[in-house]
Parts: sequence; structure tokens; C-alpha cells
Amino acid sequence: MDRNDVFARLPEVLLPWYEEHKRELPWRTDREPYHIWLSEIMLQQTRVEAVKGYYARFLKALPTVAQLAEAEEDLLYKLWEGLGYYNRVRNLKKAARIVMEQYGGEFPRDYASVLALPGIGPYTAGAICSIAFEQAEPAVDGNVLRVISRLTDDHTPVDLPAYKKQVWDSLRRIYPRRAGDFTQALMELGATVCGPDKKPDCKVCPCRDFCAGYGNGTADSLPVKLPKSKRRKEDKTVLIFSCDGRYALEKRQEKGLLAGLWQLPNLPGKPDLQDVLGSVEQMGLKTKDVLRVTQRQHIFTHVQWDMQGVYIEVAEPAGGFLWYTLAQIREHTALPTAFRQFLEELTDV
Ligand code: SF4
Repeated sequence: MDRNDVFARLPEVLLPWYEEHKRELPWRTDREPYHIWLSEIMLQQTRVEAVKGYYARFLKALPTVAQLAEAEEDLLYKLWEGLGYYNRVRNLKKAARIVMEQYGGEFPRDYASVLALPGIGPYTAGAICSIAFEQAEPAVDGNVLRVISRLTDDHTPVDLPAYKKQVWDSLRRIYPRRAGDFTQALMELGATVCGPDKKPDCKVCPCRDFCAGYGNGTADSLPVKLPKSKRRKEDKTVLIFSCDGRYALEKRQEKGLLAGLWQLPNLPGKPDLQDVLGSVEQMGLKTKDVLRVTQRQHIFTHVQWDMQGVYIEVAEPAGGFLWYTLAQIREHTALPTAFRQFLEELTDV
């Protein structure tokens, strides 16, 4: 069977399979574009099980695009806390404002307008247009590329943009009338049967009869990927200042990694304790006691932080920081996991 025939078989096989096997997920109960959009943004980089709670809390706090457009940043960060990649929630708000101001609160329906919204790339635009509006717009992500490379026994590296474009073109030609179900069926096959973290479960796959990877015995070795570039490493010293049950926090800069979020004060590198205490003094703080030093790590997409955490009791809550109790930090601030982990071992966070 040639490549085009493989694509042509997909709708007739996948739609009935999806009907029978689809997982019940909170964002599959309706076709509201806001819900599809929010779930797809949350699902980038995050597991389905983890997203369920975030999705429910977010929609409870901000049930409409109009409320999202007006939401305070601190509330947005709080709702997003722990999901990481905070740019995503900033872009959600920016896009919501555009929907309100340029489209009168009605989510745009054509692909180009959806794609033009902040934070929405070709994959998310395809998901919204096909699932919410039944348009023949494929949503091609790593899951879909993996499935297609196995189905067609294609050893081209799936991270090449030209390969993605080719898959997108081929899918667009065979999109059925039930576009939303077809998009979700492909995603579902990639998430549950032809998955990323284990061998493909070909025994239960509806595509086994015409899958070239299965037929040729190559499915386990696909997809092919380009070698990964190495992650940059950064040393950091995180200062956990305490004073009478309160801890020092500050806001991060408005640009760059974790922009605008809260952080524990920190220094570049891993200077020795004497130098750390010298810097503490320059911050306007008087050290009472050094309680302990721990080592932690946090991995972002392109950078890894290797951190030493220095717990210091100070005489006065000074230094231009904001001083909060652990309960206040938990309730009112969005502290990224990279920093929050230093507070977790302290009683009630
Ligand atoms: S037969 Fe196997 S390799 Fe082919 S699509 Fe199905 S699960 Fe993936």
C-alpha cells in the first residue's frame, strides 16, 4: 500500500474506533472554542491527568473569555502555578483581549485569524478550527508525526519543518466532514495506542492492517529524530531569608525566563558561604544565623539550574523585599516550582 492509500484509509478506520475508545475528558464535553483553546494550551508540555484539575479551577475562576480578558495578572499566575511556561497564560490573556476588542467577544472562526492570536501556533489553530468549527484544518504535533511516521514507515526526521508540512498537506487532503472527531481520533491514537513512552501497542490498533511500520517490523524504531542540542547549565544561589515566621520574596524582571513572577532572592553562581554573607550584608540585611545549605536542581526546556539554597535567619525584615508567611505565599503568590521547592521542606507550604 502506498503512502497516499495509507492516508486515505485513516478516516474510515479511526472515526468508529474513536467513538468506541475515546477517553472521557473534561474538555470533550462540549465544542466551545474557549474550552478547546484553554485545554490545548494547558496540554502543551503537561500530562492529561495533571491538566484536569488546572482546567477545572481555571474555568471556575474565569468562565468566559470576557472575564479572562479582564483578569488580574496575579490571579492568572496563581491559576497557572506549577504548570510552568508562564508565557502561555500571559498570551491567553492577550488573545482574550483581542477577541473582546476586535471580534466583539465572538471567537474568530477562520484559520488565519485564529493563528494570528498571541500564543496560538499552527497546531493549536488546527485543533480549535477542526474541533470547535468542524473545519478541515489538521492539528499536527509530535504525537501525530510519530503515528504518521510509523504508519508510512517513513524514516525522515520528524522534527524537520519540511516533514511536518508534508504531513499537514497529506492530512488536509483526506480530512472528513467530522473534522473535530478526526483530529481527536488521531490525537487519541497517538496518546493511547501508538504512544511515545512505550512500544506501540499494535495488537489493539485499528490501523494494523495497513500500517507499513507494523508490516515491515520497523514501528519500534520510529520516529527518527534529529540529535538534541545540549541544555545550558547555570549555577545559582537561592537565599531563603526568614524573620519571625516570614520569608523574603521579590518580583522577577518583566522580560526573560519566568518574567514577572515571584522569586526567592538569589545570586548568580555558587560563591562560598563567606561571599554569600558579604552579599547579604550589601542587600541591607543583618545575618542572625545560617540555618543550613541544600542543593537542588530545576530543568527548563533550554536551561538547567543547579542551585545551592542557603537558609538564613535575619534580624529585621528589611532589604526592600516583601515578607510573607508560608500561608500567604501559598495563597497569594505564584512562586515557580524552581523556587517553591526550597520552601516545601518548611512545615506548611
Ligand atoms: S499498527 Fe502499531 S505502529 Fe502502526 S499505527 Fe498502530 S500502534 Fe502505531
